[in-house]
Amino acid sequence: MSGDLKQAYNLINILEAEHKLNREDWVFLLKNRGEDRELSEYLFKKADALRKRIYGDAVYVRGLIEFTNYCCNDCYYCGIRAGNANAQRYRLTADEIYACCDEGYALGFRTFVLQGGEDAFYSDDDICLMVSGIKERHPDCAVTLSIGEKSYESYKAYFDAGADRYLLRHETANPAHYARLHPENLSCENRKRCLYDLKAIGYQVGAGFMVGSPYQTEENIAEDLLFLKELKPQMVGIGPFIAHHDTPFKDMKSGTLEETLFLLGLIRLMLPEVLLPATTALGTIHPLGRELGIKSGANVVMPNLSPTGVRKKYLLYDNKICTGDESAQCKDCLSARMASIGYRIVTDRGDHPGFEGLSCQSHLNIC
Ligand code: SAH
Repeated sequence: MSGDLKQAYNLINILEAEHKLNREDWVFLLKNRGEDRELSEYLFKKADALRKRIYGDAVYVRGLIEFTNYCCNDCYYCGIRAGNANAQRYRLTADEIYACCDEGYALGFRTFVLQGGEDAFYSDDDICLMVSGIKERHPDCAVTLSIGEKSYESYKAYFDAGADRYLLRHETANPAHYARLHPENLSCENRKRCLYDLKAIGYQVGAGFMVGSPYQTEENIAEDLLFLKELKPQMVGIGPFIAHHDTPFKDMKSGTLEETLFLLGLIRLMLPEVLLPATTALGTIHPLGRELGIKSGANVVMPNLSPTGVRKKYLLYDNKICTGDESAQCKDCLSARMASIGYRIVTDRGDHPGFEGLSCQSHLNIC
C-alpha cells in the first residue's frame, strides 16, 4: 500500500474517533480517495455501523410537496430558474397542498416538506396560513419549509405559525465558487446569514450542497465540510449536480455516484446524529443510488407527494425519477427498496435526537 493510501485510511480512523479533520486533511482525503474501492468500503462500513448504533435499521421518510416552480432567482444550475422561458409554471393552492398532506398522512407520513422556488406570489401571511392549516389538520406532524432566502422576521413568523424545520442548502461555502454558480444579486454571505438566523430562531435546520457542481474543487468541498461542522445542522442534504438542458450549465458534467457516496460516509462520521437523505438526484444518476446512499451512511428518504399532474414541471435537472408515480407508489417503491437492503421505513416524525421529546408545539412554550 502506498504511503498516501495508508494516510487516507489513517484519516478515516481519526475522523471516526474525533468526528473532525482540519482543512489540510480534508483536502488530502478528498484528493486521495482515488479509485480505490476498498478505501470507500472501509469508510462505508464505519459510517453504516455508527448510524446503526444511533438509529438502528430505521430510515425516516419525509413527504415532499413541490408546491410552486415559479422562482425570481436565476441560479445557473437550476431548471426552474427565472430565465428558463421553457419551464411550464404552476402553483398549488392551499387546498391542493392540504389534499397532498391528507393523502400522505393516510400513507403514514408524519413529516411534510413544502419546497418551492422563491415565489413572491405567496406572502408571509399565505405561508403562515398554510403551515398552521397543516398543523391544525395534522398536529402530530412536522412541517418543513424549503422556500429559499428570507428575512429573519419572515422566518420567525413561519416558525411561530408552527413550522418545525427548514431546508436551505448553502450550495457552496466558498464565496468565489458561489459567485460562479449564481448571479450577482445572490451571495454566499446572505445564504449563510439565513442559516444562522434559522438556527437562532429554533428551527431544525438542513444545509448542504451539490456534489460535482461546476468549478467545484476538493478545496471547496473541504470548506463545505468545515462549514457544516461549524453550523452543526440537524440535517444535511447532498446530491450530485445533474445538468438541465435549459440552463447555462447544460453541457457541464454531472457529479458522480462514487464521490457522492464517499461524502455521505464522511458526513456521517463527522456529524454522527445528522439526518442525511439519500436524495432523488442520487437515485437519478444510478438505479440503486438511494439504496447505496443508505448503505454509505444516509438515513432519510423523501418520496414525492406532489400531485402527479405537476411533477414533471418541477424539473430541477434532467431525467428526474419518480415524476410519473402516484404518492402511494412512491412510498411502496421506497419501502421495498429499503427492505431489500435490510432497512426499515419508519413513519414517526423522526426528529433529530437533540430535539427528541419536544412536542411539535413546545417551541411556543405552551406545553
Ligand atoms: N428555492 C429553494 C429550493 C431549491 S431546490 C431554495 O433556494 O433552497 C432544492 C435544491 O435542489 C437546491 O438547493 C439545489 O442544491 C438542488 N438543485 C438545483 N438544481 C440542481 C441540479 N441541476 N442538479 C442537482 N441538484 C440541483
